[in-house]
Formats: sequence, C-alpha cells, structure tokens
Amino acid sequence: TQNSDATPKAEKDLRSPICCIMGHVDTGKTKLLDCIRGTNVQEGEAGGITQQIGATYFPAANIRDRTKELKADATLKVPGLLVIDTPGHESFTNLRSRGSGLCDIAILVVDIMHGLEPQTIESLNLLKMRNTEFIIALNKVDRLYGWKSTRNAPIVKALKQQSKDVQNEFNMRLTQIVTQFKEQGLNTELYYKNREMGETYSIVPTSAITGEGIPDMLLLLVQWTQKTMVEKLTFSNEVQCTVLEVKVIEGHGTTIDVVLVNGVLHEGDQIVVCGMQGPIVTSIRALLTPHPMKELRVKGTYLHHKEIKAAQGIKITAQGLEHAIAGTALYVVGPDDDVEDIKETTMEDMKSVMSRIDKSGEGVCVQASTLGSLEALLEFLKTPEVNIPVSGISIGPVHKKDVMKASVMLEKKKEYATILAFDVKVTPESRELAEELGVKIFIADIIYHLFDQFKAYIDNLKEEKKKEAADEVVFPCVLKILPNCIFNKKDPIVLGVDILEGIAKVGTPICIPQKEFIDIGRIASIENNHKPVDTAKKGQKVAIKIVGSNSEEQQKMFGRHFEIEDELVSHISRKSIDILKANYREDLSNEDWRLVLKLRNLFRIQ
Ligand code: GDP
Repeated sequence: TQNSDATPKAEKDLRSPICCIMGHVDTGKTKLLDCIRGTNVQEGEAGGITQQIGATYFPAANIRDRTKELKADATLKVPGLLVIDTPGHESFTNLRSRGSGLCDIAILVVDIMHGLEPQTIESLNLLKMRNTEFIIALNKVDRLYGWKSTRNAPIVKALKQQSKDVQNEFNMRLTQIVTQFKEQGLNTELYYKNREMGETYSIVPTSAITGEGIPDMLLLLVQWTQKTMVEKLTFSNEVQCTVLEVKVIEGHGTTIDVVLVNGVLHEGDQIVVCGMQGPIVTSIRALLTPHPMKELRVKGTYLHHKEIKAAQGIKITAQGLEHAIAGTALYVVGPDDDVEDIKETTMEDMKSVMSRIDKSGEGVCVQASTLGSLEALLEFLKTPEVNIPVSGISIGPVHKKDVMKASVMLEKKKEYATILAFDVKVTPESRELAEELGVKIFIADIIYHLFDQFKAYIDNLKEEKKKEAADEVVFPCVLKILPNCIFNKKDPIVLGVDILEGIAKVGTPICIPQKEFIDIGRIASIENNHKPVDTAKKGQKVAIKIVGSNSEEQQKMFGRHFEIEDELVSHISRKSIDILKANYREDLSNEDWRLVLKLRNLFRIQ
C-alpha cells in the first residue's frame, strides 16, 4: 500500500536521503557503488535506477525488490536513495551547506582484512566535524579463507552457510575491528545485534564482488534515515542546493553540477552563487539531467527540465558561472527576497575560509579544487603538529597569477614561496614560470602527502642553508692548553688542549682574550686519540692545529704572544651569532648558548 493514497501525507512528502561513500583507498568504495548500482546484479534488478549528474538514484521500488529476502517490515517512506557517485573525502567535503554537512548519511568502508587505516581515521574526523551519521560497511568478507558465496544474499544467511573456521575467522576479525573503533572513541556493533542505534554505530559485513550483505546495507540506510531524520528529510519549498563541480561543456559554456538537497528549481530562477571575485547573480538557462535510456545516450545530450524537485543531481547552465566555486551553496532569489542580503549570505562560506589566512602576511599559498577541500586542507595545516602558516588561498587549477602571488614570498621567506596544490591541475605555463622564479609547487591528492613533501623540502632547505653558513659559523668554545703538550710553537701552532666549555670545531677562529684579544688563526684540524675529528666537546682532551689566516696571524707564537696559562676562545661576532641562531639552534645545548652569551659580553658585541 506504500504508494496508494492511504499513505499519510507527511510520509509522502519526504525527500530521498543523500548518501556518500568514504574510506581508505582500495577498501572497495568504487566496487561497492558499482555493486549497488546493479552492474553486478541480475538483469531486471537494476530496474528504475537512474544515473544523475554526480549521483545515482535508487527508487524505493528497486530497494524493496532487492531487500525482500530480508523479510523486513519494509515500509519505505522515502521515495528512494540518492548516492553520490564520487567516493572519498573530496565529494564529502564538498557537500556542505550553511556550515553543516549535506550528506544525510555516509557509508564508511573498512576492509575486513586490513581493519582501520589512516584514511579511515581521516574520514572519521571529517564525519565528526560535519556531524554526519554513518554506517560501517565491513567489506570483502568473501576474502575470508574458505568463504562460500551466495550471490546477493542477506548477511545472516550468508554467514550461516560458512564453515566453523570461516565463522571463527570472521568473528576474530570483527572483534579486532570493534576494538580499533573503540580506540577511536566509537562503539560499534553488528547491525542486527545493535540495540542502541544512534549511540552505537552499525556494522554491515559486505562483499562488493559477490553481493552478500548488500541488501542489508541498502535497507539499513533507508530505514535508519527515515526513522531518525524525518525532519531533515521532510520536503520543503526552501531550496537547499550545493555546487559539486564547475565544468566547461561544449555547447553550454561553463556549467555547474549541483546536488539539489531540498526544494524545487525552475528554469529561469534567479540564483546567486559564490564566486572567486564575489557573488554571481544569474538566472538558470537550463536544468539538465543525463538521458535515462543508455542506448540512446549520445555524448553531450541531456534531458531538459522545466523544473526539478529534490533530491537530485543536476547540471545547470547559466551565464557568468566561470568563477563559481565548487563546494558552496547555491541560493534562489524568491519574490520577497532582497538580492543584496542573499549576495552577502552566499559569500559567507568564503569568508570563513578567508579568515584562516595568516595575519602576518607570511606563509605558503594553498590551492584546492573546491571550497570544501580547501577548508579541510586549511584545517589540517592549522593543527599544532603541522602548523604551516598560509598567506594566500585559491580554488581551481594553478595559473600563472597564482605563481606570481606565491613569488612575493621569495623576498620575505624563501621556504614560503610555495604552493600546496591539493587535487588540482597545474597549467604548463605556470609550471614553467614557477621554475623560472623559484616558486615550489607540491601536488597531492591526499592531504598528509602534501605535508610530507613540504616538510622534506623545508628540512632540505635548512640543510642547504647550514652548508652555506658553515664557512661563517663560529661555535663557542673555551680551551685550556695542556702542559707538556706543546707540539709546535708556531706556523702552525699544534697544542694539546682540554675543552673547558662548548664545542671546538674545525674552522673556528681562535683568539686570546687575556692578551688584548690577539687572533692566532683558525682550527685547521683536531685529533682525538690520534684520529682526526671535526668536532670535540666539553670534557674531551684533543690535539689541535691552528693555522694563521694571514701573515700577521702566522707570526703568532706560543711562549712569546701567549703562555700556557692563557685560555683560547672562539672569536665570535654579531654575524656569527646570527648564523648560529638561524641555522644551528638545535645543535647547541642551553649551556652552549650561555657560553655564547658570555663570549658576547667578553667581546662586547651589542
Ligand atoms: P576504492 O579505492 O576504495 O574505490 O577501491 P576499489 O573499489 O577500486 O577496490 C579496490 C580493489 O579491491 C579492487 O581490485 C576490487 O576489485 C577489490 N574489491 C573491492 N571490493 C571487494 C570485495 O568485496 N571483495 C573482494 N574480494 N575484492 C574487492
């Protein structure tokens, strides 16, 4: 009776819940999508499934048909289920509107053979951040050793058919994964044992290859959303719509692919979209969806609609969309609305991101494909363990102007003349320009890979600077001449010394403060137990050779210009202190730094 007029009105007015798939790479997100889309199910079962822009629509009838073996009280109140086609973080972070998540529910895919992986945890954090409900698909059960397949069977039935060994292995792996989730602060439980849905997250074991558990997953998604999200899913006239992608399409110019979450869009509606250069006010020229009959689908042909009701994935054509930003909300200007107000609201998403830019004006430039992914990247860069300041942001491919912008940092801080490009293309011209100017561009489609690359670059730069500075750096030391260890009195001076304080390094200029600061040359070599070394530390007794850097120094002689009781110290300068501070901060202990201070006073350096 679900579709008859006897259905209460409130129930008829629910929209389809929107679902997206997340999880670590290779857990089977794409396969799972293919599997529920029917690529794997028998002919006929795929009935009614329609391809939309960026999403696939599953009508309730199809879900009912595929879940009938579960004999659940399958009263489906929602018209269907809308699953976003691009799995992963990016599509999820895109789906935002008015600050909250746009996905009603997510499927977090975990490989039963691997358990929780880095991106599983990254996904969990995103879901938490957006307050999004989710279920866990424990995928690849067919990979348990000895698994007997029953295509598309409900999971309880499928598990019953397995040998004791398989069941044991299943239980063992399940327990491990439940423990791993617990370590992340989440309670989880097999969905059919879960009595506290909402507090305990449900696990559905699945195989995207043989289809076990897929009926369970579909039913759980629909039942869970229609049970707990009635308010959110109630059809409303207020348009809630998000831009998924901005694309140039032959014959249509720049178009936007959107997900209409709620409300109705009409051809001719005046809309406002968030743009890189401010709000874009335009009107809908065409509302397009793919042609439903695949065999008739010629590339580039779309169905035109006068109006479309949520929830749906739609392509919109309109004028002036070139600078539209993916991942932002689209607004419709109603007859009573003030365009100026809406323009301001539209730009709010952008403003919150702009506020993340470092006030000092020093930092790297970051660039991402959508506002959502940019936000996720900025969020990550801000965390204390990472802490990379940002001076500029941009959305879309890296162009020459972005390289120019980043090059401003060359003067201020070379390492920040860098573009961190997250999941965007870099045009060949901008790559060339970057090389010419010395701007670094790092590209990755996983956030933490960007960080790794940048960190390696910074470390490398530091090493290079150290090498450059090595000629001018002076480490602090105080040396005491050992009696009976005067091996050569002059040119070169060779002495046995006790390192009283600090670090003696080859290259250090040595001076005798007690004798009116006479310079006697630089340490040319150090021997410790007859072995040449580069450095010697406090407490060590070593032989050093001091070579004068000029003829005056070369004249200096033990016994005439200095005596056994005179201490030898490093001749530091303002510049050498600055180089130490800039490049060798971690190489010196607190005690060494105190010695620097002492020598600074001794040499009366300001
Ligand atoms: P994604 O990176 O998460 O989208 O993963 P894919 O869907 O591309 O799957 C990664 C690999 O795992 C592919 O080789 C799939 O064929 C395989 N795979 C996915 N799901 C299953 C499953 O349920 N069982 C088995 N045996 N293999 C699977």
